[in-house]
Amino acid sequence: MKTVIDKLCDNQSLNREEFEYLLDNIDDKSLEYLREKADEVRIREYGRSVYTRGIIEFTNYCKQNCVYCGIRHDNKKADRYRLSAEEILDCCDAGYKLGYRTFVLQGGEDPYYTDEKIIEVIRAIKKALPDCALTLSLGEKSFNSLKQYYEAGADRYLLRHETAALVLYKKYHPNMSLESRKQCLWNLKKIGYQVGAGFLVGLPKQTTKDYVEDLMFLKKLQPEMIGIGPFIAHDNTPLEGEVNGSVRQVVTLLAIVRLMLPKVLLPATTALGSVDPIGREQGIRFGANVVMPNLSPTNVRAKYALYNGKICVSDEAAQCRKHIEGKVSDIGYSLDMSRGDHKNWRRL
Ligand code: SAM
Repeated sequence: MKTVIDKLCDNQSLNREEFEYLLDNIDDKSLEYLREKADEVRIREYGRSVYTRGIIEFTNYCKQNCVYCGIRHDNKKADRYRLSAEEILDCCDAGYKLGYRTFVLQGGEDPYYTDEKIIEVIRAIKKALPDCALTLSLGEKSFNSLKQYYEAGADRYLLRHETAALVLYKKYHPNMSLESRKQCLWNLKKIGYQVGAGFLVGLPKQTTKDYVEDLMFLKKLQPEMIGIGPFIAHDNTPLEGEVNGSVRQVVTLLAIVRLMLPKVLLPATTALGSVDPIGREQGIRFGANVVMPNLSPTNVRAKYALYNGKICVSDEAAQCRKHIEGKVSDIGYSLDMSRGDHKNWRRL
């Protein structure tokens, strides 16, 4: 096992069989060795800084029906909301005062927000807070729309590919296509965004071969950011009662990805902190270097319920930041509130 991990460190990749062997056979001792290697690489590339992005979940309306997701269109029990442009700006302003210099606007695929409305919000944020980075996470959009958002000032775009395994993708994404999701990621790269792909871990019927598919795709895409989080069941979805993804599975994959793409920006996700109270700390120890505290207004937080037991739904923005700051410093790292761009990225 040590030889395989050393090979991953040296070559920043493995072949399919080696990845499969690593994922299927790693024991506690080898996992600790993998962690040490991933931590070394992260410290070499980014020190002990953990970049902090304020996330604003501005709509939970969604036209898609991802089987695992609590805000899927067919969940008639979801209590839907939308934030106005003014409310979104207020969240950014409040975040700025707390020291945030990166904002992530995330939402379901909600046709109410036309390109015109989105561009207006991007311009307003960039005008009010020109020293901040703006990340969008709005689902799949056409090349043209994405280009206009970029030209209006958006810097980054998060679009997890969710799973690169075709059969699994089809099973969980009715009326969607893996090919167009991947194409959207390639389009984002071509336009000049810092691109975030990523995948779910522990979906029912997900296999080691499926994760290897994810790793191969990520190596090819070379995204600047990669979101890896556990699947967590939501009660009002067809996956109600299914077993959640585990911290161990997620941190193993985080460490592998850190070794494959040393400079990648890798969040310790809210979902990881929701399956285990020390999940995010574990993620950071295994090579993650980003956290995304919530800046949404507290009265809508609980409504952006992608899965059961989401953390930070009642904290005020300031409390949320303080909370994560304490957790990060307890394990020997420190929050970094700067823009935190990827080392190799420059706006085209
Ligand atoms: N609509 C945008 C998109 O498609 O990228 C962004 C919003 S979507 C709700 C954000 C992410 O939530 C997805 O990429 C998915 O991986 C994650 N998610 C949804 N349901 C989840 C669940 N049950 N457990 C864990 N993560 C989940």
